[in-house]
Amino acid sequence: MSDYADRWNAALDRQVVQPQRELREAKKEIERLRTEVEVRSTPCVWTEDDDTGIYYTTCGRAWLFECDGLAENEVKFCPFCGHPVMEADDE
Ligand SMILES: [Zn+2]
Repeated sequence: MSDYADRWNAALDRQVVQPQRELREAKKEIERLRTEVEVRSTPCVWTEDDDTGIYYTTCGRAWLFECDGLAENEVKFCPFCGHPVMEADDE
């Protein structure tokens, strides 16, 4: 009797409880990845000070290239926040 109940509970765990747990974990992982993609696709805008050549970033930092600017140095991602870099439009 007890043996039957144990096997029944084990089967129930294998067929129902475990898949539900895995599904919950998969949904959590999807949500985490979705948030990460959203955060990572938000650009960090770099604005160049024309007098000094210093770039100021939207994440609150500053950067000065030894030569040239963003495009010439092939900067794609901000070294401070990790977001894709976008150069501010000159106004
Ligand atoms: Zn940044």
